[in-house]
Formats: sequence, C-alpha cells, structure tokens
Amino acid sequence: MTAIPSALELTQSLIRFDTINPPGAERACLKHLAGVLTANGFETRLFDYDAPARANLIARLPATEARRSPLAFTGHVDVVPLGQRDWSVPPFEGRVTEGRVWGRGASDMKSGVAAFVAAAAGFAAQPERHADIILIVTAGEETGSEGAQHLADTPGVLQPCGALVVAEPTDGRPLVGHKGALWLTMTVSGVTAHGSMPEKGVNAVVAAARLIDRLARFEFGVAAHPVMGAPTLSIGTISGGLNINSVPDRAVLGVDIRTIEGQQTADVLDSLQALAGQEVVIAPRVVMESVFTDPETPFVQGAFGVFERLTGRTPAVETAMYFTDASVLTPALGSPPTLILGPGPMAMAHQTDEYCEIATLDRCVDAYRQIIAEYVR
Ligand SMILES: [Zn+2]
Repeated sequence: MTAIPSALELTQSLIRFDTINPPGAERACLKHLAGVLTANGFETRLFDYDAPARANLIARLPATEARRSPLAFTGHVDVVPLGQRDWSVPPFEGRVTEGRVWGRGASDMKSGVAAFVAAAAGFAAQPERHADIILIVTAGEETGSEGAQHLADTPGVLQPCGALVVAEPTDGRPLVGHKGALWLTMTVSGVTAHGSMPEKGVNAVVAAARLIDRLARFEFGVAAHPVMGAPTLSIGTISGGLNINSVPDRAVLGVDIRTIEGQQTADVLDSLQALAGQEVVIAPRVVMESVFTDPETPFVQGAFGVFERLTGRTPAVETAMYFTDASVLTPALGSPPTLILGPGPMAMAHQTDEYCEIATLDRCVDAYRQIIAEYVR
C-alpha cells in the first residue's frame, strides 16, 4: 500500500490528461488511475477498444468474505471539446484558486472519478469487507456511452452488482435516475422534377412540413412520471432539397425524444411510424434507456441518510436532466438500485472555465466512504 492521494490531487492529475472526445485517447489517463488503484490493493484491468489510445478500466477490491453482491461505482474520463470561447484558466493544468479546482472535466467528471477512487482506496486496509468494491471507469461516454457499451458487450466482464453509484455532477446531491433518450431521423421521400413543373414531382419538403405539424401535436399516451415528469419530443434539425429550382425528393428531420420510466423504445417507434405513415423511414441514432430507482429502496434511503448527516438537509427526490452510462451499465449489472451522486456542479458541465468546489469534492468523498462502509460491513 502506498499513500492514498487526496481527491483534489487525483482530480488535478486526471485533468492534466487531455482526454477530449473526439478523439478520446483516454488510455493514458486510465493507466495512471490503474497505477494508483493497484498500489492500494485493487485488481485492475484495462479493456482496450476501438483505437490503441482508448480503453475502459475495471478495478476490483475483493471482499474478505463475500456476503453481498458487489457495490459498483462508475464514471467516465473523456471530456467534451473546449468550445469557441477563450478560457481564463488553463484547461489542462488543474489550477486551484478560490476554493475551486479548475479545468476541462473538473465538473464532468474527473472530480467524481477522483472522489470514488480516493474513497474506495482507503478500504483495502480494512480487515473485514463483506462485498467486493468495483470501480468501472469508462471512455467514450460523451459520444453516446460507447465505452460502457463495449464493456456490456464483452462477455463475462460485468457481473451482477448490488448497487451502482454514478459520479456524474449533481452538486453532491443524491439523484434517483434520469430520463432516457431516443434520437432518431425521419426521412421523407418524394419524386424530383424541374422547379418550373412542380405538378410532375412529389415534394418531400412539403411532406416533411406536414409531418412536423403532426409531430408537434404528438401525444405519447402515457401519464407523467411523478418524479421525472412527462416524456418530451423536440425537432432538432431539418434538411431537404439540393437546389431552389428542383422539386426536392428527400427531406430529413432529426428528432430528440426523452423517455420516462416504463416507456419502451419499440412502442414509441411504433407510434411514430403510425403517425408518420409507412413510407417515412425512421432510423434510431441514439437509444439510451431511462434509469429510475424507487427512493424507498434501502440503498437509496441509506444514501439519503448519509446526505442528511453530512449537510443537515433532507434530500428531495429528484432525477437528473442528462442521461448517463447507467442507461447501459445498470441493465448490464443486473439492474441494481442506481444512484447518481457526484461533486461537480451540474451547471458547470461542458462549460468554459469549468470548475468543482473543493468543499463539495471533500464532502462527496465522505459520502462515498460512508456509503461503502455501510455496504461492506
Ligand atoms: Zn458526464
């Protein structure tokens, strides 16, 4: 065992790796983490995928005597591009000022990964642990959970777990899930003709406009979820036609649907097909399942209790606005209770001059420690 780095030091060291995705290049960052974890009693394994510079990491601290299925934590180390605006702090330095650690990924979500690594690393020294602790650190989350999907698709890698904590930015609040996402394109076809003789063609742009009108009035036919609210549909893109003086024979809509617990992707696709007509080609581009854990679940109640002890506040039952790797990992781990709880400020994710409050980071490490202690005892 070597000295366990603090969550702050770890966050800084992770920020210093440029893991902007695309292209990703997360492997060096994960190798560094694996080194820290191996030195603290964890078994670690890197799972290469896609390109030589890309990988996922799974680290495991085995139980001294397993009485419960493992407790898992997850986070991703890829980050989004820096954006157009200039940063007033260096994005890959891990600078500390004003009680904050700054840099790309400081909120989303290298601080979260650092926090659970720092918390879990201390448990190797504990003489008795009655459950494995599994850390699943992924690549490729920001481009649609590709890393998590690779792990889920690799036979024998993920085993059933008793609970999962996702360390995405929540300002240190425990959240009980998030909506799913179904991003799709709808392609409307027509027949082209000279623009001076529109009656000889079938105008795909006009057909798409009529479809938009019907989509705007689309009803999902499900009751709003008491915590997540109602599903939504937003038309994000439209394209069609090649030149002004031709009747367009193709128009494509990009549609963003956010689903709630209990909605099946296949059912939503069926209703959209019925609305659009059989001649419209609907192609799903991103399918992320919703995640929801009953707040009365003992694991969630335990985490709520930890939050209350640490902050003096009663947690509200809430879900996150974004989706996470849990859409892929929760089902792949046998659908355990899943909590989203991380130190990053939610409003800072993907922003210029991203930061994490060090006080929230430290409080999150405490929360993870208590959650682990309660679980493995
Ligand atoms: Zn994230």
